[in-house]
Amino acid sequence: MLIDFHAHAFPDNIAPHAIRALSKNGAIPCFHDGTISGLLCSMDEAEIEKSVILNVATKPSQTENIIKWCLKIRSGRIIPFASVHPEIRETKNIIKRIKGEGIKGIKLHPMYQDFEPDDEKMFPLYEQISDEGLIVVFHSGDDIAFPDDRRAEIGRIIKVREKFPALKIVAAHTGGWMRWEEVLEKMAGRNIYFDISMTSGYIKSHELFKDIIKKHDGDKLLFGTDAPWADQKKESDFLKGLEIDNKLREKIYHLNAEGLLDSVR
Ligand SMILES: [Zn+2]
Repeated sequence: MLIDFHAHAFPDNIAPHAIRALSKNGAIPCFHDGTISGLLCSMDEAEIEKSVILNVATKPSQTENIIKWCLKIRSGRIIPFASVHPEIRETKNIIKRIKGEGIKGIKLHPMYQDFEPDDEKMFPLYEQISDEGLIVVFHSGDDIAFPDDRRAEIGRIIKVREKFPALKIVAAHTGGWMRWEEVLEKMAGRNIYFDISMTSGYIKSHELFKDIIKKHDGDKLLFGTDAPWADQKKESDFLKGLEIDNKLREKIYHLNAEGLLDSVR
């Protein structure tokens, strides 16, 4: 049993355009067509039972549309997360509604949404998410589409961790994309979930990856891929081939994700 905690898909009518734009016209490879049915196909191939779909509201008006889409696509295999644009001032009712609709979490992306995680203007939102017991997934570290951009640097996410002790935080891409030495030094071992998406093909060595997961809490690691920007089959094969304790592998495959998702009720 496998749960992908970091996947993406788009409404059928915009998927071709979204894929073209987000892949920078093909410069970033793409492994499914961007639709829910394309993702399900890829999941079947990789024997992935469920995927968490992470959405990002890049404009305030998208916040509401994304909630509607989440409700439309959710199923036994598709677990959509909402997103809230940081420019929206009054978010309390939106967060309550997201919780009330049974959506389990929210994705925030510092670059696509132009904010710094440790900026005080974000604090009321974190407090509301924390009060409702929802999960927040941060894009963390560098981003292939935003070279030299430090808005998602891991120190900022650590500050949020310290300021909001009850907030359920997932730092994507094994704590911080392309910042894994820093993750090992400063972030591993903290009360932060890591999804392991976009890591196996980019990390300097698999030893470094193993060092991180050795230092980190085995209950806070989540399988994730970043599909369609990664191949779900290849990522699941990577985890299968990794020389780690089978108990830990089961936790990363699905047990930790189930526990985290079930904690939202
Ligand atoms: Zn992603």
